[in-house]
Amino acid sequence: MTIDPRIAIIGGGPGGLMLARLLHLRGLAPVVFERDADADARPQGGSLDLHSDTGQHAMRAAGLEDAFRTHARPEDQGDRLYDADGTLLFDRDGAGDDRPEIDRSALRRILLESVPPGMVRWNSGVEAIRLGDAGHMVVSAAGAEAFDVVVGADGGWSQVRALLGDARPRYEGAVFVELGFDTRRHPQVDALVGAGKMFAVGDNRALIGQRNGNGHIRGYAGWRIDEADARALGAMPPEAMRAAALAEFEGWSPVLRDMIVSGDPLGVRPLYALPIGHRWASVAGVTLLGDAAHLMSPFAGEGVNLALADAVDLAAALTSGAGWPAVARYEAAMIARAVPAAQAAARGMAAVLSGAGAAPMLDHYRARLGG
Ligand SMILES: Cc1cc2nc3c(=O)[nH]c(=O)nc-3n(C[C@H](O)[C@H](O)[C@H](O)COP(=O)(O)OP(=O)(O)OC[C@H]3O[C@@H](n4cnc5c(N)ncnc54)[C@H](O)[C@@H]3O)c2cc1C
Repeated sequence: MTIDPRIAIIGGGPGGLMLARLLHLRGLAPVVFERDADADARPQGGSLDLHSDTGQHAMRAAGLEDAFRTHARPEDQGDRLYDADGTLLFDRDGAGDDRPEIDRSALRRILLESVPPGMVRWNSGVEAIRLGDAGHMVVSAAGAEAFDVVVGADGGWSQVRALLGDARPRYEGAVFVELGFDTRRHPQVDALVGAGKMFAVGDNRALIGQRNGNGHIRGYAGWRIDEADARALGAMPPEAMRAAALAEFEGWSPVLRDMIVSGDPLGVRPLYALPIGHRWASVAGVTLLGDAAHLMSPFAGEGVNLALADAVDLAAALTSGAGWPAVARYEAAMIARAVPAAQAAARGMAAVLSGAGAAPMLDHYRARLGG
């Protein structure tokens, strides 16, 4: 007789929830510790495109393809590029592409509804993990509980990662100010964005607009800035943050600057990444997936796709019957898979926030998408 392993998943983001779903399908009952008070505790952020061989593959493996198709927006796969004067340099509607968008909130809801009630423990921020006689003790406000396996799905600032080494995310030298738009209130932004995503790029600065579901558009004003100044920006009241962003885009086309003037300021995101190829010596009973293992800047659009694919592979390893060596093999393959994505994110950031204006982005679009 074998006894099912006691598995703690720290973090109920896309990666942690996907792992919970897949283990549930295999008859296991992991516990998901999630810091958020409930499913609606904070806005989940923008739209994500799921790629065929990673994100969509995971949704199929989890039996959630129909739910995904119901909420996905294949019509929003277009790309536009403007320069700082507002000249449209590249415009492609993305029809026929296979990277449909889905709102992050919809994806989280699908995953949450796919696991039994109670599998996710809300309001359960993990404060520490200690090795005890009975296994790995996961400490939260509710007390300490023993598990055989602890999975760090707790994002870029993972606590679980600290059990496996001292790697920390490094500041990437750039910040995003996030802006919210409603297509009815902001028809000019609606017209700029087109069928999917727009970038306006010039002189180490970028304005980005991304169509979300339900008539929403999420915008980002991004530029290069010291870490301390980025943090100071994050502490500013919204109108001061808007004024600081506007000052950065002095001289840009009024149509583009209007995104900063009229958008609802939603927050500030300094960008961080783990060293490319971050790895660790495998430790029985503790592993990582998603951003906890390979946080990267969002410029490759791969982060959530990798997190979901990691969950598929880790679920297979944990249920293979081959013990921890199977998990160690999962770790090696996961790390190798993330390297080209992280390299693409670094190249993407260099192209978007470039001293050479829009030319590198235009070259990138032409090489990748034609036109
Ligand atoms: C601006 C921006 C745009 C992006 N756009 C894209 C995109 O278009 N495509 C794409 O593929 N990726 C994108 N990403 C990246 C993507 O969001 C991440 O890669 C993805 O969310 C990683 O999923 P995860 O489950 O590993 O971690 P997360 O989504 O970070 O989830 C971690 C969870 O752990 C919880 N948690 C953390 N600490 C604890 C604790 N101690 N105890 C309990 N719970 C804890 C958190 O509350 C959270 O719910 C973007 C990221 C940013 C910042």
